[in-house]
Amino acid sequence: MLTALIPLAVLLMNNPSLATMPVTLLKGVGPKLAELLAKRNIYSLQDLLLHLPLRYQDRTRISVIRELQVADYAVLDARVTHVQASPGVKSTLTCQVSDGTGQLYLRFFNSTPTQKQSFNVGQMIRCFGEVRLGPRGLEIIHPEYRFVNEAQPVNVEDCLTPIYPSTEGLTQITLRRILDQALIFLERHELWDCSALLGETNTPSLKEAIAYCHKPPSDTNVKQLLAGTHPMQQRLILEELLAHALTMQHLKRQTKQDKAPSLKTQGTLIPAFLQQLPFTLTAAQQRVYTEILNDLQSTVAMTRLVQGDVGSGKTVVAALTMLLAVENGYQAVLMAPTELLADQHYQSFNHWLAPLGVEVIRLWSSQKSGLRKQQVEAIANHQAQVIIGTHALIQESVQFSKVGIVVIDEQHRFGVHQRHALRYKGMSKDIASHQLIMTATPIPRSLAMTAYGDLDCSVIDELPPGRTPVTTVVIANSRREEVIDRVAAACEQQRQAYWVCTLIDESEVLECQAAEATAQQLRQELPHLQIGLVHGRLPTAEKESVMAAFKAGTIHLLVATTVIEVGVDVPNASLMIIENPERLGLAQLHQLRGRVGRGHQASHCVLMYQTPLSSNARARLQIMRESTDGFVIAQRDLELRGPGELLGTRQTGLLEFKLADITRDQALLEKATALSKQITKQAPNIAEALIDRWFGKKALYHDV
Ligand code: ADP
Ligand code: MG
Repeated sequence: MLTALIPLAVLLMNNPSLATMPVTLLKGVGPKLAELLAKRNIYSLQDLLLHLPLRYQDRTRISVIRELQVADYAVLDARVTHVQASPGVKSTLTCQVSDGTGQLYLRFFNSTPTQKQSFNVGQMIRCFGEVRLGPRGLEIIHPEYRFVNEAQPVNVEDCLTPIYPSTEGLTQITLRRILDQALIFLERHELWDCSALLGETNTPSLKEAIAYCHKPPSDTNVKQLLAGTHPMQQRLILEELLAHALTMQHLKRQTKQDKAPSLKTQGTLIPAFLQQLPFTLTAAQQRVYTEILNDLQSTVAMTRLVQGDVGSGKTVVAALTMLLAVENGYQAVLMAPTELLADQHYQSFNHWLAPLGVEVIRLWSSQKSGLRKQQVEAIANHQAQVIIGTHALIQESVQFSKVGIVVIDEQHRFGVHQRHALRYKGMSKDIASHQLIMTATPIPRSLAMTAYGDLDCSVIDELPPGRTPVTTVVIANSRREEVIDRVAAACEQQRQAYWVCTLIDESEVLECQAAEATAQQLRQELPHLQIGLVHGRLPTAEKESVMAAFKAGTIHLLVATTVIEVGVDVPNASLMIIENPERLGLAQLHQLRGRVGRGHQASHCVLMYQTPLSSNARARLQIMRESTDGFVIAQRDLELRGPGELLGTRQTGLLEFKLADITRDQALLEKATALSKQITKQAPNIAEALIDRWFGKKALYHDV
């Protein structure tokens, strides 16, 4: 079926079609508007037609006030029953209206005198807007409205009103106007259609689906349409997800063209390392390591993502992988997102590897220039075999001698660019390095497929034995004193604790200040305890010495900002207080909480929230209380906050779908992925055309 279609598809693609007709063909689209459209990557009529509504407003029927619910968008016909304007030139106008079934307030801020005078008791008004709960009952703020004459009924809209994604200067009215014209072009011109590939017999054509989504008729299933589950939308979503999956496959093939040195198990380092470890690998660690070994033996550069829950022991797997490079005469590099974590890794690696005669060095930007110069030199002349650092490793001045493997820890903190920069940085004579990417917490399957579809994936799905799950309690901050007593009691029993101050604002400075103030207060209240403080703005040496003291047990309580979120490993710490947990995402909370529960003692985490707590926040904290499984929590976090928040904005480049929503469209995602594999193999030219249609040419290269 597939092969029979190709010649036709190619033929159509070569004909002048909507894909090659510029938007400037439309009436009223001059250079200025074209420029605004270009900001949204709209150049051709096809691009414009695929600029699909984000949502719809239903202005096809008139609602009655009695049946309104908060957050409804509604058209109302009502009579003005009361008008009240606060004094002043630009002041608030509140107008009570009634339609016989109930009443509602219309509110206008900065109302002009002319507007105020236009409202009179007894007038009939047609208005539209979002219903909210105001101080006096249901209200609409700044409704669209016009006064109407009872004798002459006004029509409602025939179709649902599309609401388009926009840019500053590009209004909904302009978009609707030019789309009306584009839809006429759509009827008359060629648009290459891959419906037959999508696998169902009654798949709507592309043209049909596009026209429907821009102008859904009034008898449409509104509920489906608003939810994005209408068959016409789903037709387009499947194609979009297919194009995305094809992009990922394309990028994957591109990466697989990179050559890297074949690394073989041959030396004595790895056996010696395994022998001195105080534990044996879990079955999951062993399996993932074997998967990595298979990759490394080949001369195709590895790009493998290792997922595993907090504490599943990813570091040891990274160490083994790096040692293999060293055994084969190559350098191994590890990049971590913070100095604190890089230093932790340095401590462990040095502890593990120095006895084996491996030279481990660390590099980050705040190091003194003398030391840094030495380090850079040791890296260049291969004296350094294992190199651990922050993004400072990507800097110009750092030249590696011969890198076999690059490990990126807590990958969500880095952008795709930084990842690639390091891969090619270690390159010598057209040879790239192998890459191992480790996530901080598990990534939901749908997100992994979309965001990391270009990577091979391994999962460490087992925790080392002997861990006691962390018990989590949720407490209001009005019970702070009780919590402090609890910390004191725990520390008296030789346990150690973290007290985490979270972001109060979008500002690191404020977060650090909060931590300082908290440390001071706790020192006053708990004078018999050794209390340390660590945050991102302390000098490196101080951070290091505080962490070392905490690890050694001379500090009982560590007050910290979220800098300790990733990687910090102090098994004797078994109590964690997190202030304002309601401000953090679930994945981040899980990650933070993963700092405890690493030893044999039963551990506790206290989520001390600020009152009052919204019902959504309550639900989220409840999930933390109920689950300690990172895979479950990540999925819930995705559902509650969406992919952008979960991955961090840096990662979302390829996740800006026009229509698809990976949580809602999970089933289509699976289908698209399966289809994409078939198409990549059998019809690569179709793949490129689809990628170009939905994501543009830039998606074909790694610089997205
Ligand atoms: P993460 O996957 O969160 O990076 P780490 O690599 O920091 O986890 O490991 C967490 C802790 O578990 C460390 O103290 C590490 O030494 C220990 N650990 C790792 N693997 C095992 C194992 N197989 N058995 C026992 N403890 C282990
Ligand atoms: Mg880790």
